[in-house]
Amino acid sequence: MAKKEKQIFVVGHKNPDTDSVASAIAYAELKTELGQKATPLIASSINQGTSFALETFGVKCPEKAHLFDFPEYSVVLVDHNESGQWAEGIKVENVVEVIDHHRVGKDFSTEEPIFIRTEPVGATSTIIAKMYQENNKKPEIHVAGLLLSAILTDTLMLKSPTCTDEDEDMANWLNKRVKIDMKAHAKKIFVVKSDISRLSAKAIIIRDYKEFHFNHKTRVGIAMLETIAADKALQRKEEFLGELRKLKKEENLDFMLFVISDIVNINGYALVPGEEEASVIEKLYKSKEKDGIIELAGVVSRKKQVVPPLEEYFSTHGRTKGD
Ligand code: MN
Ligand code: MN
Repeated sequence: MAKKEKQIFVVGHKNPDTDSVASAIAYAELKTELGQKATPLIASSINQGTSFALETFGVKCPEKAHLFDFPEYSVVLVDHNESGQWAEGIKVENVVEVIDHHRVGKDFSTEEPIFIRTEPVGATSTIIAKMYQENNKKPEIHVAGLLLSAILTDTLMLKSPTCTDEDEDMANWLNKRVKIDMKAHAKKIFVVKSDISRLSAKAIIIRDYKEFHFNHKTRVGIAMLETIAADKALQRKEEFLGELRKLKKEENLDFMLFVISDIVNINGYALVPGEEEASVIEKLYKSKEKDGIIELAGVVSRKKQVVPPLEEYFSTHGRTKGD
């Protein structure tokens, strides 16, 4: 007799961005079209940029992950793999597949064999678009629009150091269906996302916050703010610093960092809660703190320009509180 089919969910990381939401929606559609019914979920609330993209293409936001309610389910992780970024309720034995464009974290390992596809491209949505092509399928216009929005935002309008030729190719392929002014559309998303005037300092930090466990034990929190109005954001420096100190304590982190990246001029500004962070960041980026801000020349990508130097640093300086 056939094995009872488990529910299959596709979900991106906590504090989702457009790539996490678009790749979950699109991959669930593709899987369903290929005969394996799958449902997209979000790990936590979406940001205004993603709401705007969903509205533009008339797509409903997926439900929040409610995996605790299901005794039996399978889950596909998109746009992440490290357990610090999982939706609540995911158990490693339920993970059946991963599609991602991040480093594979040391804390991700499985007992059973699973499907894993990671590629060093600018967006998970680029990989999903390729999978449509490989299966001789074309995404519906609304799905193509979301994938395109995700590629454009994850690659900072195809300008990020993480952007590859494949991202550009897939963006152009998708836009054959969507037919929009890509630059204008991406700009609109960034304008909406950059309006942080109504958000608390905490909400801004949490919106694009990821936790990493370096060297198996050092808990490092890295928050990012991609903005077209970096000067405005930096005016709220004192508020951010206060929140960073609080969050570091609450989340029991060993190290915390908030990078405001100016995506117009491609430059980064680090805010840190303490002395240790300041001295490590100054050393790694050969830059001096000035008025509580450490300029990180050309830094706009957490994945490519922030995580690797920190991971390397903690591989030789790793420790936990009390060590
Ligand atoms: Mn993401
Ligand atoms: Mn991504």
